[in-house]
Amino acid sequence: MAMSKFSQLSEIRNELKNDLLPSLDGQELEIVLVKLTELKSYFVAENDQKTLKEIWCLEKIIAINKIYLLAFNQLKSRQYYEAWCSLENIEIALSQLSRHFNTEDEFFFLVAFIGQHSLQYQSLFPYSTFVSPEFTVKAKTCSICNKTSSIRHPCGHKNGEIYDGEMCYQIWDGIEYVLFALVKSPVQKFGVTFLSDPETEEKVDHYDYSLLEYLMSCLQSPFHSWGISWTKIRHPHSNYLHLSPSDDCPCESGEKYSHCCLSKPGVLRPHCQFALSVPPPKEVEVVKYPEPTSGKKVKTSVPAKVYMLIAKLSDYLVQTPKGDFVKIKL
Ligand SMILES: [Zn+2]
Ligand SMILES: [Zn+2]
Repeated sequence: MAMSKFSQLSEIRNELKNDLLPSLDGQELEIVLVKLTELKSYFVAENDQKTLKEIWCLEKIIAINKIYLLAFNQLKSRQYYEAWCSLENIEIALSQLSRHFNTEDEFFFLVAFIGQHSLQYQSLFPYSTFVSPEFTVKAKTCSICNKTSSIRHPCGHKNGEIYDGEMCYQIWDGIEYVLFALVKSPVQKFGVTFLSDPETEEKVDHYDYSLLEYLMSCLQSPFHSWGISWTKIRHPHSNYLHLSPSDDCPCESGEKYSHCCLSKPGVLRPHCQFALSVPPPKEVEVVKYPEPTSGKKVKTSVPAKVYMLIAKLSDYLVQTPKGDFVKIKL
């Protein structure tokens, strides 16, 4: 007798269990996803919305796990901006999942691990200013029924809710950009400002990623946990020999060097300490004074190629300030 669809689903769950999911390779995950799609069409025919939601959650967890592995590899290969976008993508995916997911779930530990570590990685990025686009939208349609929806004529589907195992989001078409604002805490964090080469107009990544670089040289697996604590320590004056006493103090107090730290045993600077669950490989040299990754040292400018950001936004499902999920169509 053929295995019931319910036991097929619980078999998949077992296969994906906490410590197994991280170690499944891409091909194995693809096979699981195909099986889930098949199960979905069965339960759609049965109109079993509860089980369909459960399947959607599993698909989302697999997707989040995949992006997390991607982000880790991007960090390892120093593709920092790409990793930043992946981490932002994880944040949005977690926000979709959290509405349908609770602490009782057996995958909660894995999801919480990824969520916490993604935030920690983000906190080590030197980005401080973002481009935030403002635009008008010609048409907003519902991803479930394809009907044009507005506040006065709602289609009845709720943004973020699951219907037949698919999440409802809005599709925005006919985007016209009105202006770009420079902001500190944008709704989407994809719009990092970069300088561009005046001659070639190519993007110039002028940021200092030394903290991330150091951390990544210590981490051997994306699933080894780590923590971070910030303190202040005095960095030796010999690190700042290029400065004159009348320059601004490198502690960023806003005072002159001579009136601030110069008379002290060293320059008081934020210091980041990593706690690793697994010791780093032996060849990692101890970096005593990683340079602070303050964005203040370099002037950021609005990128010449703003269209790069627009293209970036259309790659992802983004979130509005109200928390709705939106796909931007180009
Ligand atoms: Zn609808
Ligand atoms: Zn100082």
